[in-house]
Amino acid sequence: MRIPMIVGNWKMNKTADSVAAFVDGVRGNLPDGRQLETVVCAPSLFLEKLVEHTAGMPLEVGAENCYFEDNGPFTGETSPYALSKIGTEFVILGHSERRKIFRETDEMVNLKVQAVYRNHMRPIICCDETMGQREANATVHWVVSQVIEALKGVSEEQARTAIIAYEPSWAIGVGTPASPDQIEEGCYLIRQTVADVYDDEIANEVRVLYGGSVKPANINVIMQKPDVDGVLVGNASLEPESFLELISNDP
Ligand code: 13P
Repeated sequence: MRIPMIVGNWKMNKTADSVAAFVDGVRGNLPDGRQLETVVCAPSLFLEKLVEHTAGMPLEVGAENCYFEDNGPFTGETSPYALSKIGTEFVILGHSERRKIFRETDEMVNLKVQAVYRNHMRPIICCDETMGQREANATVHWVVSQVIEALKGVSEEQARTAIIAYEPSWAIGVGTPASPDQIEEGCYLIRQTVADVYDDEIANEVRVLYGGSVKPANINVIMQKPDVDGVLVGNASLEPESFLELISNDP
């Protein structure tokens, strides 16, 4: 059985002084991680604070990006080794904002996936899809190739713990998610690709998330789809009230 997940992605929002209020706002109201896993991914700048404040709570902490070398002369980059040392458990990689704005390639995403595993954390690998690709019927090729490239050199044991998100960029931050059928189609495609690269057993263990305008009002219908194991949420994860509403809406 795959444990469902709700993952917040705070992006470049919030400041260090809002961390304690968020954590206090959800404290005592989070589900046992064995039924529903909850994660907050935050800017590296205040991850340590988030780790400290969430100690003993069933709320895991993730980074939003990292570099693919453990240390060295890489001015301004975030070391996966340093992230791991402060207690970071997950790292979002290949988000469409990073692929588009920061020109991250599949090859870079793959090196980062390997760096995250090397440092005993788990990657949340995002697969993008633009509206242009959807309209050109290129979705299948695009999503499949991102999954294949991201998992190159990843062992079977590592792949079992991977989290992969279908995040069509046309549905991010716009208020309206992809339709439930489109979401299932994208998540199914990701799982089938994992089955092709590894096998059915591993594909059945990998958790596949959907991201793009998820909010309390639409999470139920999304989570009910068979290949959707959870959601990656931007705006609706920023305030504790909304984060808790996402959880209480989980079927
Ligand atoms: P929104 O939930 O704000 O659309 O953002 C989705 C996202 O990009 C999560 O990674």
